[in-house]
Amino acid sequence: MAQKACRNCRIIVEGEKCPLCQSEDLTKTWEGLIMVVNPEGSEVCQAISVTTPGVYALKIK
Ligand SMILES: [Zn+2]
Repeated sequence: MAQKACRNCRIIVEGEKCPLCQSEDLTKTWEGLIMVVNPEGSEVCQAISVTTPGVYALKIK
């Protein structure tokens, strides 16, 4: 899989730049996907500091 995750905000990035924080600090070494539809009130989202809907990596190495 060629998809990368942003080290800063964990979102899965297609391309070379994070659409959320504009960071180019991406990694291919991540594990677990979580799809966030409604971040508010989700304990998982609070645990991984997600505030914007999207697809995120659970673990970043
Ligand atoms: Zn980012």
